[in-house]
Amino acid sequence: MRAPARLIAAASLAFVLAAGACGHPAPDAGAALLQDAPAVRLERLNSLDVRVADVAWTLALANADLCPVNRPRAGWTLQSASQYGAELRPLAEARYGLSGDLPGVLAAPPESPAATAGLAAGDLIVAVNGLPLAEGAAPAEESYDGLQANAAVLDAALARGPAVLTVRRAGVEREVTVRPVSACAYPAQVEVTGSFRSRTDGRHIFISDGMANLAQNEDELAFVLAHELAHAVLEHRTQPDVTGVRGGLNWALSMRRGLSLSAEADADRLGLFLVARAGFDPVRAVEFLTRYEAADGGAGSVQINAGGIYESAAGRRRALQPVLEDIAARQAAGRALIP
Ligand SMILES: [Zn+2]
Repeated sequence: MRAPARLIAAASLAFVLAAGACGHPAPDAGAALLQDAPAVRLERLNSLDVRVADVAWTLALANADLCPVNRPRAGWTLQSASQYGAELRPLAEARYGLSGDLPGVLAAPPESPAATAGLAAGDLIVAVNGLPLAEGAAPAEESYDGLQANAAVLDAALARGPAVLTVRRAGVEREVTVRPVSACAYPAQVEVTGSFRSRTDGRHIFISDGMANLAQNEDELAFVLAHELAHAVLEHRTQPDVTGVRGGLNWALSMRRGLSLSAEADADRLGLFLVARAGFDPVRAVEFLTRYEAADGGAGSVQINAGGIYESAAGRRRALQPVLEDIAARQAAGRALIP
């Protein structure tokens, strides 16, 4: 189900879409985190992971009806010992009971199927429907391959319905039944890039540590993640010409394509709806963009992307206003938040 939770971006450049990378690199954004002592860094990374997992799950669940691709999900974020390099791996093993490639629960958002089943951070999944997952041999270098293979086994099981997991907690094994629910099929991941950046490859949403830290509350974090979710929902990755109409995979959004002048404007607009539909406050996006502009050295959230129409960050903020008013009017009138 998921690719690396802590992927360093280099290998992923090939996947970055022209319209999906929404920030300037700012080399010192993650520097503080990278300079932390290993144990502190692990804690801070994992608390970011949990924050992002919670907000992203809420967005994915609330907006399932708008997503062209849904699948049965447990809502968890998984990790493994083997994904860590030599410095952090022993700490992660001790702190989270990780072992080899076995998936450990890093985050189980409140009321997600994982949480409802009783799973919590620190649980290690050792088998599914009675079949052991592969623990693998600890790789010398950090590797996500084994975790991804196990995650695919879990996804396949969940696709068939409720799954019985054998879970190890504090050395004791027990069985739990996870009953997945349909949600947008784009999990979010934190990547340590030392920059302010978020992006999507059409299958995953990535947010950098710097960007996640810049968001001062869940509403702001929701705006960043929802903007990327909107790119994925609008299938910008698969559209060579985002201003064109590519037919309606999705009734609500195909119309938007015909009206589009800019993939970024569309992602901002739809993103605000996704935020509001998930119960977050879309108005906070304005504050976030103001802070983002300042943090990004003033060059700002002006478009670095192909087809951007904004002359300035202020222009981007201005463009949000009619959307926010539309959303507020719909909410006041009790009308559906259909973008
Ligand atoms: Zn964007």
